[in-house]
Amino acid sequence: MFGRRGAISGGSAAARRGNRLGLALVAVLAATIFLIDTLSPLDMAIAVLYVVVVLFAAEFVERQGLLFVGGACIGLTLVSYTIMHVGDYGFAATMRCTVSVAAITVTTLLLLRDREATRSLREQADLLDLSHDAIFVRDPKDTITYWNRGAEQLYGWTRQDTLGRQAAVLLKTAFPARREAIMAELQRTGHWEGELVQTRRDGTEVVTLSRWSIQRDARGRWLGTLETNHDITERKRAEAELHRAQVDLAHVTRVSTMGELTASIAHEVNQPLAAIVTNGEACLRWLGRPVPDIAEADATVKRMIANARRASEVVARLRALARRSDPEHVAVDASEVVEDCVMLLERELANHRVRLDLALERGLPPVRGDRVQLQQVVINLALNAIQAMDAVPAEGRVLRIAAVRMADEAAPSVAITVRDNGPGVAEEAIPALFTAFYTTKKNGIGIGLSISRSIVEAHGGRISGARARAGGMCFTVALPAAAPDQDAGADAAAATSRKAAS
Ligand code: ADP
Repeated sequence: MFGRRGAISGGSAAARRGNRLGLALVAVLAATIFLIDTLSPLDMAIAVLYVVVVLFAAEFVERQGLLFVGGACIGLTLVSYTIMHVGDYGFAATMRCTVSVAAITVTTLLLLRDREATRSLREQADLLDLSHDAIFVRDPKDTITYWNRGAEQLYGWTRQDTLGRQAAVLLKTAFPARREAIMAELQRTGHWEGELVQTRRDGTEVVTLSRWSIQRDARGRWLGTLETNHDITERKRAEAELHRAQVDLAHVTRVSTMGELTASIAHEVNQPLAAIVTNGEACLRWLGRPVPDIAEADATVKRMIANARRASEVVARLRALARRSDPEHVAVDASEVVEDCVMLLERELANHRVRLDLALERGLPPVRGDRVQLQQVVINLALNAIQAMDAVPAEGRVLRIAAVRMADEAAPSVAITVRDNGPGVAEEAIPALFTAFYTTKKNGIGIGLSISRSIVEAHGGRISGARARAGGMCFTVALPAAAPDQDAGADAAAATSRKAAS
């Protein structure tokens, strides 16, 4: 009957000893009150003091024990009353006895009700321990007031370790935005959700998907914040690895695309080198005359410099494409991306006797993207188009590349279109073009378009292919324009990216 609470609140020997001592004190107190009530000549409701016995006993006993103590106190009150007033039950004495019994009864019942409410709250709190997520409650000053078992397991601190400590300091929380902005949103909507990086007791970092909800009292005052944290460290790692693999794959495809261009690029570099030699020889001749023709010599040297620049630019573009680096998202001009590609494609166009028709709008809103990856997409589309046009007579082969502002989109967008007048693809086969390993070429791998799609989607855009009205295919790469705040310093960023690319 007694001690069950003691067993719950701590089964240690020290706790049990404390319980026994407390119960002994309860008995002594009750006996003292009984003696005073029975032997004292005072006309007072001394038995009301049994209320103290009941309140004190409530610290050590369970429900039944409390009922027993309450009943015993009422019994002692009635015994004293009977002993003191046997044969003379006066009105005043009877009233005093009644008041005492009522006080003891009400106190016992209130304590029982409070005990019941506490028990049900504890049961609800225990339910939170069943969750695998870390759940804790912080008061408005960020002090931890509740810490569930999931939090113990995730972070390594026990409930006792954390109660009363500052959550953000203890967990060294790194927030995805300014703390004040997060708190403002929490105050406004009552909720917040985002990713946090926190530090466990052993010093390792954990990434969590965190959901916060404000707890308010009936008058709307902020009592605390319930924080539920789901461990997504593994998921994040897997995502990072996937991203790595995609970057690597994009790089491999880029290099293999360059392989297709090797012959024409070698020619593209060789041509200015040959021109440099010719101009150099001419220059020597102008200078070797009895009266050196300085003006002609000057012109030939200028031509040599221009040719050397061109060769070095081609090499620089190639090196940028071959470089294996993490995508770097900066403000990029879509027309400039196309121009960068054209330099590498010129010889290939000539070899396949394809005429290039460029329509590059000036002053396009910049898009946020990786210059090299976007070039990879354009080169892939252009090479596909050039190769497809081998199937039609040489006179009619035209590759049209345009970079334009998209008018009908909800948000400002830019489109790069690559159109050919080759044989095209049957309508029903178009979706398959973007799946990996779909190819109709003898030496094709079939991942160019699928990589292009993942690159474009990683830029928040979309790529589509359709049969052109005049025959052939038209591929469109739609890219969202950079948000106005991303535009800040766009020119500088674009310049930097151009520099990096060269
Ligand atoms: P690959 O070039 O290695 O075949 P891609 O993913 O770049 O891989 O292209 C997949 C296929 O899509 C090509 O094999 C070709 O059949 C088709 N294709 C792509 N672009 C065109 C085009 N402009 N005209 C006709 N067919 C095309």
